[in-house]
Amino acid sequence: MLPSFSASSYDFTEYVPAKNFIGGQWRDPSGAEEQPVLNPRHGKAMASVRFSNAGDIDAAVQAAKTAVSEWAGLPLRERAQILYKARELMLRDLEELSWLVSHENGKLYDEARAEVLKGIECVEYGCSLPNIASGNELEVSRGVTCRLEYAPLGVVAGITPFNFPFMVPLWMIPQALVGGNAFILKPSEQVPLSALKLVEIFREAGLPDGVLQVVQGGREAVEALCDHPGIAALAFVGSTRVAKLVYGRACATGKRALCLGGAKNHLVIVPDADPEVTIENVVASFTGCAGQRCMAASVLMAVGDVDHLIDGIRERAARMVVGQDIGPINLAQSVERIETYIAQAEQLGAKVILDGRGKKATDGGYWVGPTLIDGVTPEVPAGTEEIFGPVLSIMRVPNLEAALQIENANPYGNASSIYTTSGDVAAKIMGHVEAGMCGVNVGVPVPREPFGFGGWNDSKFGHGNITGWDGYRFWTRQRKITTKWALQKDQTWMS
Ligand code: NAD
Repeated sequence: MLPSFSASSYDFTEYVPAKNFIGGQWRDPSGAEEQPVLNPRHGKAMASVRFSNAGDIDAAVQAAKTAVSEWAGLPLRERAQILYKARELMLRDLEELSWLVSHENGKLYDEARAEVLKGIECVEYGCSLPNIASGNELEVSRGVTCRLEYAPLGVVAGITPFNFPFMVPLWMIPQALVGGNAFILKPSEQVPLSALKLVEIFREAGLPDGVLQVVQGGREAVEALCDHPGIAALAFVGSTRVAKLVYGRACATGKRALCLGGAKNHLVIVPDADPEVTIENVVASFTGCAGQRCMAASVLMAVGDVDHLIDGIRERAARMVVGQDIGPINLAQSVERIETYIAQAEQLGAKVILDGRGKKATDGGYWVGPTLIDGVTPEVPAGTEEIFGPVLSIMRVPNLEAALQIENANPYGNASSIYTTSGDVAAKIMGHVEAGMCGVNVGVPVPREPFGFGGWNDSKFGHGNITGWDGYRFWTRQRKITTKWALQKDQTWMS
């Protein structure tokens, strides 16, 4: 039984070492490597995590194989009942889960709570599947029917990033479980603790041993998951570099794979944008979770004369207090990466009009305050590469065509938003932008359930979205059954 995480404030709080959860047992991973789990606000180890090797992955696959046939044999409606119970338990433990996410990831308590609630929304989608996952049936010729069923794949796996330790696993788990599969989760080694609570909740909800398991670790564990012949499908969420590698490796062993990668999201502002909405939204988009969201605004395409909006954005962002209104960055190395992008932009002639470097809320933690860089051009890496920090690069362009040209030249295609009061202008951007998730006067255009989450181009490898109905389809395979009971003697091409 896992102990409760006792924090109820940002005060440094230790937690148990992260273990594997295999076949209903907590087990120590067998790999030699071990690393601290850092609380980014304090820069101190709150726990530790040992890495799994191929042997641990195989043990999880074998336990999953044992468990999956009985689980898959339950009616879908019964499988979904577990999610109702899990949802109740998540709401019961909302405070504890939110503080755990906040401590291991660093995000503010309110941001962590919003993450847990969004995870619960994904569980609710899973609860709704018994009402929407019926297959089709049609009489295709006299006395002959064709029926479509969604059958489980068997043992499946998910690999998740550091920035949403509770929500991203729940993009995958509800549909995979209701679909009748046994799921193996490999969380980010930076944030392995929320996954422990997650599996504990499903166990308390009554999920049989082996149906949901956790393996801790890094590259070796991921490669073993990609290579294991007992795993039928694999989803990944993380950086584009790794998403590409994992997609290639998983597909090479014949697995179904869906791998979501990084992003460089553009917000377009035009002179007729509503100042209040735009300023508040743009600031929230690039500073929320300290810019460590794949949906965060990263480039502001300033079309025409929008100085009044940029002044407002700068003033609003400058009022933010580090540690209170904006949380820490995950690692010291990430602070270094972000500051390098800022310094490089300055060297290439851009102007830092709000500088978050050196802003600190604690001595040991990892911090960067809100940063605005004006006059960025496509030649400046801050304007084209994923920074993953609270930095907004402002590119000045004369018209919408120029904005679209720059935006669509970027290889990523996750999210894009336009701020305007003109439907015509919005339609122009929405109709031509190369991005899978778009917003009009919305800074973080995450498609809420039941709409599927997923970008385009280098932000996603594989077909379909990871949440919503596409998620259910990803974790199941279609069986088509043709039936003829009226055994008529006349011959048709069907006979
Ligand atoms: P990451 O790619 O470093 O790690 C993601 C996962 O891959 C982790 O579980 C990690 O252990 C594993 N991993 C790391 N290196 C590996 C390697 N060489 N081989 C095999 N596995 C490896 O990503 P991160 O830093 O944890 O997360 C941030 C990134 O995730 C950002 O790029 C962000 O945009 C992206 N992200 C994307 C989405 C989306 O929906 N598109 C959502 C959240 C985060």
